[in-house]
Amino acid sequence: PSPAAAVPATRAPEGRRIPAVLGADLEVPVRGGRLAPYANLDYAASAPCLEPVSAAVAAALPAYSSVHRGAGYASQLTTARYERARHTVRAFAKARPDDAVVFTRNTTDATNLLARCLPEGTTVVVFDTEHHASLLPWRHAVRLAPPAFPGEAVRAADRALAEIEGPKLLVVTAASNVTGELWPIAALAHIAHRHGARVLVDAAQLVPHRPINLTALDLDYVVFSGHKLYAPFGTGALIGRPDWLSGAEPYLRGGGAVRAVNAPQTGGTDGWEVDWHDDPEARHEAGTPNVLGAVALAAACDALTATGWTALIHEEERLLARLRAGLAGIEGVRELSLWDPAHPRVGIVSFTVAGRTAREVAEILSAEYGIGVRDGKFCAHPFVRHLLDAHRPEAHPQNAHRPDTHLQNAHRPDTHLQNTH
Ligand code: PLP
Repeated sequence: PSPAAAVPATRAPEGRRIPAVLGADLEVPVRGGRLAPYANLDYAASAPCLEPVSAAVAAALPAYSSVHRGAGYASQLTTARYERARHTVRAFAKARPDDAVVFTRNTTDATNLLARCLPEGTTVVVFDTEHHASLLPWRHAVRLAPPAFPGEAVRAADRALAEIEGPKLLVVTAASNVTGELWPIAALAHIAHRHGARVLVDAAQLVPHRPINLTALDLDYVVFSGHKLYAPFGTGALIGRPDWLSGAEPYLRGGGAVRAVNAPQTGGTDGWEVDWHDDPEARHEAGTPNVLGAVALAAACDALTATGWTALIHEEERLLARLRAGLAGIEGVRELSLWDPAHPRVGIVSFTVAGRTAREVAEILSAEYGIGVRDGKFCAHPFVRHLLDAHRPEAHPQNAHRPDTHLQNAHRPDTHLQNTH
């Protein structure tokens, strides 16, 4: 068969059951030497691998070779797999036909890549609520305080963008990794465009839970990571307008990013004549790419799409309500929210426990119950500090919480129901 034809389509029929994750039946040692089912509530950090993702990688393993330049069958097959994965990711994000889809290592790599591609003099506007991956890469940034309600986010962005001359970029997360709250990205993109700015949406926590549509929402750039989307580590994507990417220095200088290199004179590097690719994908993906990672990411995109968002969201809402009701019933536990607790959110909950540090609670949950959670400041230090300050006893005398305790939960994969959220 021709290599392209040999690449299996991973799309499954609509209405399929929520696929299982690997390791769903893991048992872990707990106090007293017993084994308990592992309740992995740490999906927001890294989600386990879906079975169809593992199957897609296993199918690609027997014949792989380096992409794009080899004439051998394995190389052609691998190139076809890699480019099909790009196509799948593009379709998953509902990107415009001319958008670039650059494979990166993860979200952090993708935001840093875009930061290197900003036109000279670009001012970035960013909320203090961002994950460090979207907060720290920028050289000239105007910081916005955590808004008191969603409409205030739009107003604050409006005011800030109005005062900036020259190229500007608004950076915003679609779903907070700390509170799970969904941000008004469509309204923010609209405001950004009214001021001639572009918008970058950090969708790392959105894409495992909700569909994303670059075209309908008119987003300029979107970034996300495969390992939060039920694929293994090592692959992410930057998707969006090609012009800034084509106009920038290659992210990495090396093979694959160049059409031709001539060294007409001996001597220093000044003598090299390098003809870099204009095509943003080739330009910014120098070196041998992580093809199996791309295959995994694409398979995860396909598995979620094939399951159907209605089913996924329905199941997630059910589990989220159960978790929140359970937490609300425990004395001393307080959930962290930036906005009204009824504001829509994905399946992420952070909470404090009165009189305990986050680490203590996390260790007890693991040692006593086999429950895995994340503790700490979730790579969003300014935001978590803001939330904890808002929950300080002196801010709310009725609240006796210690301000340094909080935990984060993703959903428990209920193996019985084969949930992935
Ligand atoms: N953005 C958000 C909202 C995140 O939750 C994370 C990871 O926790 C990142 C960015 C960074 O992702 P990665 O570590 O895969 O680069």
